[in-house]
Amino acid sequence: MQFNFVIVQHSLNAFARCLQSIIFFGVNTRRRFIKKSGLGVLALTIPVEFELFSKAINMVSKKHFEVIIIGGSYSGLAAAMALGRALRNTLVIDSGKPCNRQTPHSHNFLTQDGKTPQEIATLGKQQVANYSTIHFFDGLAVNGTKTKNGFDIQTSSGEVFSASKLVFATGIKDLIPKINGFKESWGISVLHCPYCHGYEVRNEQTGILGNGDYGFEFSTFISNWTPYLTLFTNGKSTLTKEQSTRLKNRGINVIEKEVKELNHTKGYVEHVVFNDGTKMEVKAIYSSLPFEQHCTIPEQLGCELTEEGYIKTDDLQRVSIPNIYACGDSTTRMRTVANAVSMGTTAGMMLNKEFVFENFKATENE
Ligand SMILES: Cc1cc2nc3c(=O)[nH]c(=O)nc-3n(C[C@H](O)[C@H](O)[C@H](O)COP(=O)(O)OP(=O)(O)OC[C@H]3O[C@@H](n4cnc5c(N)ncnc54)[C@H](O)[C@@H]3O)c2cc1C
Repeated sequence: MQFNFVIVQHSLNAFARCLQSIIFFGVNTRRRFIKKSGLGVLALTIPVEFELFSKAINMVSKKHFEVIIIGGSYSGLAAAMALGRALRNTLVIDSGKPCNRQTPHSHNFLTQDGKTPQEIATLGKQQVANYSTIHFFDGLAVNGTKTKNGFDIQTSSGEVFSASKLVFATGIKDLIPKINGFKESWGISVLHCPYCHGYEVRNEQTGILGNGDYGFEFSTFISNWTPYLTLFTNGKSTLTKEQSTRLKNRGINVIEKEVKELNHTKGYVEHVVFNDGTKMEVKAIYSSLPFEQHCTIPEQLGCELTEEGYIKTDDLQRVSIPNIYACGDSTTRMRTVANAVSMGTTAGMMLNKEFVFENFKATENE
């Protein structure tokens, strides 16, 4: 058995390229692949990993699904799990760019505290892949159109998949400011959320990059985690007199100099460097960034956005267009893995319920 396993592992590597060309040249069933590759006998010993791999064949050969989930990170995978457990034929399309990919450790998600974002996503995907009706496509969805029976989704590599219902779990794209060192430190020592990362930098020399009401509120809030706080307004302060006094009374410095860059080592900030050449030591900086939707298809299809730019949903994750659901960061400012998973689960369960009742009704009338 051990021997067979090794052979299959080697065979997998050797046939990976062959398999890819089979996929792309349209020989698209598992049986035909095994026949073509001469793996007939070995196929009996094929381990689970290969079963996952073979899903890729089903995936490209099949064009119509009951549901397409666009976005296969935490929220999309949670929706997929609920749909897999409800036997729904589902395709998950994912371009592999979750917003937290640069962060070394993810926190505040029960049972997974301190794991890397990738570890959490990989375990999630493995568990979802156990459900035979779930299929995966690695790629970018670029276009969506409404059709008579549902929706067509086109990918950047030219495939068109169709489904009766859609889930958008596409997240948001943070718009990084043009400050040298900011991008490299984002999610490592430049932070968006104290619940995710504040504990690790408690009582450290910390900066807030912000101004006006936002700068004041964020400084007040972060004072829970450290008394060593400086507000960098990056230009003339727009704080009110009262706000300035209240911060001063709590020992929170306000620095109005323009920020030129963040000195850092591998994303761990050491100094904020100002335009005048002076610098100040910090261990962490909080900043809330503007964002845009990661995927424009919801807007193409006419889904309503909120004033802040999130996809508008009701409590059951339904958007303003029938048969479309959305979940995760693309729909809320409550940005955590736990919340994304919760919303994805709701979307998957509610979408399935809609399907069940529709099908039940349709067959009653037959
Ligand atoms: C730097 C940083 C650190 C964070 N740290 C923590 C933490 O420690 N703890 C915590 O609980 N939360 C943390 N968060 C928040 C958490 O990462 C998000 O709430 C969570 O990732 C949201 O999950 P999601 O599935 O909605 O979106 P995402 O995880 O952003 O995933 C969206 C997915 O959709 C895909 N996608 C988008 N458009 C398309 C398309 N057109 N076609 C195909 N695929 C597409 C993307 O490639 C991506 O894989 C952090 C966030 C950031 C930015």
